[in-house]
Amino acid sequence: MNCVDRFKAIREKVPSNIKIVAVSKTKPATLIEQLYTATGHKTFGENKAQELNEKHSVLASDIDWHFIGHLQTNKIKYIAPYVGLVQSVDSFKLLSEIDKEAKKQNRVIPCLLQFHIATEESKYGFSIEEAKRMLDDPLFQELRNILPCGVMGMATFTDNQQLVRKEFNMLHYYFTAIKTSYFSQQPDFREISMGMTDDYLLAIDEGSTIIRIGSGIFGGR
Ligand SMILES: *Cc1c(COP(=O)(O)O)cnc(C)c1O
Repeated sequence: MNCVDRFKAIREKVPSNIKIVAVSKTKPATLIEQLYTATGHKTFGENKAQELNEKHSVLASDIDWHFIGHLQTNKIKYIAPYVGLVQSVDSFKLLSEIDKEAKKQNRVIPCLLQFHIATEESKYGFSIEEAKRMLDDPLFQELRNILPCGVMGMATFTDNQQLVRKEFNMLHYYFTAIKTSYFSQQPDFREISMGMTDDYLLAIDEGSTIIRIGSGIFGGR
């Protein structure tokens, strides 16, 4: 199977209200173009600003690019003119810098708050306490050029399905807690981005609204 067939198979298996981000990191622009042309799929995910920029510059301008990796503040300016969703906001500093660059571009950049739900130390993200502290801070209220749209998380890399399910369940719980306390009047705050190639069905079962599929579409990296 090629990436088009693999994408179609996953699209058919997944309820239509769930968004699929085709994670194209490390893969050539020609593969992205192939999928885009054959299926009309427009949402792609990248985790490095420079790589994203290179692909953006050669591919169709109506691609909805999601940034899903650790974003350094000095790189925001390169993607701010066009990025569709920054899924990996993990600090107030980053969020305020995104706000600043968005303002320069005269746009509002949709963002997800990334939570640390895995047992591994290495994965980035807020704890629920850190997120609440940020959301309670009056400085957060001053940000006008970012639009909080929900949460994102990565489960532990393990075969232990029970642990992965527990982590997804936790992220859904964080979403609900934050939605209720801070965004109950904001319909845009509605996304739970969780689930990758090996665990997306589990994630959907636990309430995911966005899945991020890389190797399951484009093959191993
Ligand atoms: C690479 C990556 C994915 C996709 O992983 P696969 O296992 O290849 O589907 C999803 N989310 C993030 C944040 C990633 O870095």
